[in-house]
Amino acid sequence: MSEQSFGSGATADVVIVGGGVIGLTIARALRRRGVRDVTLIERGRLGAEASWAAGGILGPQIEADQTDDFFQLACASRDLYPAFATALRAETGVDVELDTSGTLYLGFSQKDENELWRRFEWQKHAGLSVELLNAGEARALEPCISAKVCCALRFPNDIQVENRKLVEALATANEKLGVRLSTDCEVRAVRIEQERVCAVETSRGVVSAPIVVLAAGAWTSFINLPGASRIEIEPVRGQMLCFEARPQIARHVIYSSRGYLVPRRDGRVLAGSTVERVGFDKGVTDEGINGIKSMAIEIAPTIAGLPLVSSWAGFRPRAADDLPVLGPCAGIKGLIYATGHYRNGILLAPITGELIAKAIVNGESASLLKSFSPDRVACQKPDREGGHVALADARASDTTGF
Ligand SMILES: Cc1cc2nc3c(=O)[nH]c(=O)nc-3n(C[C@H](O)[C@H](O)[C@H](O)COP(=O)(O)OP(=O)(O)OC[C@H]3O[C@@H](n4cnc5c(N)ncnc54)[C@H](O)[C@@H]3O)c2cc1C
Repeated sequence: MSEQSFGSGATADVVIVGGGVIGLTIARALRRRGVRDVTLIERGRLGAEASWAAGGILGPQIEADQTDDFFQLACASRDLYPAFATALRAETGVDVELDTSGTLYLGFSQKDENELWRRFEWQKHAGLSVELLNAGEARALEPCISAKVCCALRFPNDIQVENRKLVEALATANEKLGVRLSTDCEVRAVRIEQERVCAVETSRGVVSAPIVVLAAGAWTSFINLPGASRIEIEPVRGQMLCFEARPQIARHVIYSSRGYLVPRRDGRVLAGSTVERVGFDKGVTDEGINGIKSMAIEIAPTIAGLPLVSSWAGFRPRAADDLPVLGPCAGIKGLIYATGHYRNGILLAPITGELIAKAIVNGESASLLKSFSPDRVACQKPDREGGHVALADARASDTTGF
C-alpha cells in the first residue's frame, strides 16, 4: 500500500477509483486476466466504508419476487462465492468465513404467511431451492426463535460471508498480485479529451490512463467528469447493531419482514438495519437503535439479555432505479462504471469483478450487463455515441475464473 505522490509522468493501464469491495474485486480480476499495470486509488483506508458496515448476507432469493435480470445477476454472483472464497484463501491465507448454513425467513402473522406462501410457490415453480416450514420445524432448526413464529421459509443456498475478512483478503490478494494500491488519495476529476478518458487528477498528482473505472460507492457523483453525462448515486444510510452471544444463539441468517440477524462465527450477532435518506450523516440514532433492537428481540427474545457491544452506520450507494450501474459509458471511451450496488454490493462483488474485467480485456460487455448500463441513468446524453476501449491484446489475456 502506498501513500506516496504520483510523480510526473505516472501512468497505468487501468485506474480504479475506490477501494471498497467492488474496486478491490475488479482490480484483482484484472490482474488475474493479465492486465499489467493496475492502479487503485482510495481516498481513505481500503474497505472502510459500506463494505465494512455491511451484514455480509448473500441472499438473492430471500426478498425476490421474480426472475428478472437483477435476480439472474445476483444468483450468478452468489454461486461464484464458494470458488471465490477458496481462491482467496489459497492466495492470501485469509478465511472469509463463508457460511453455508442458509437463511430462514420467519412469518409472524397471516399476512406474513400469505407472503411467504407466494414466495415459496413461485420459487419452487422456478426450480429454485426453497423449503416451507411450520413453526415446529423452524424451531427445531433454530431454537432461539420466538414462540410467536407461525411459519418460515428456508433458503439453503442463501448464505453469508464475513465482509470485513473479505476486504482484508482482497487487499492482500491485490498486494500480492502487484496492484498499485494508493490510499489516502482522492480522485478529484477524470480528464477527458476528445471523448476519451486520458487521466485522473488526484490529491497527490495526475495519473495518465486510457481506462478509468469508477467504483467510488456512494461518493461516485462527486468525481468531476467534464464532458460526460452525470450519474446520480445517492447515499442511503443503514444502521447496524452488534450483540455478543457465547455460545452463539443461531446458525442461519434469520430474516423477518422488519429486519435480520446475522450470527458470526466468533459469537457476534449482527442486527440490521435502517434504510434512511439523510445525506452523508453517519450518526447512529436512538430511534435506529431502538427499532433494530425491538426487531431483533421479536425474532429471538433471548437477544434482550445479550450485551450490545457496538453499533455503526454506513452508506449504501443507490442509483435512481435501485439497480447497479455497471459497464462502459457510451460517448466517453474508457470510462467504466461499477457502482450503485445499493443493498447488495457484497453479494454482487464476484460477478462485478468478473464482468467488468472481461469488458475491459475483451472490449465488449456480457449480455448479463446490458440491463445495468450506465446510459439508462445518465442525466444527459452526450451528442455522439461512442465505443468502448479494450486493452491491447498484447497486454492482457482472458484466462482466469477464480
Ligand atoms: C448497514 C449496511 C448493511 C449492508 N448489508 C449488506 C449485505 O448484507 N449484503 C450485501 O450484499 N450488501 C450489503 N450492504 C451493501 C454493501 O455494503 C454495498 O453495496 C457495498 O459495500 C458497496 O461497495 P463499494 O465498493 O461500491 O462501496 P464502498 O465500500 O463504500 O467503497 C467505496 C470506496 O470509494 C472511496 N472513494 C469515494 N470517493 C473517492 C474518490 N473521489 N477518490 C478515491 N476514493 C474514493 C471511499 O472512500 C470508499 O472506500 C450493506 C450496506 C450497509 C450500509
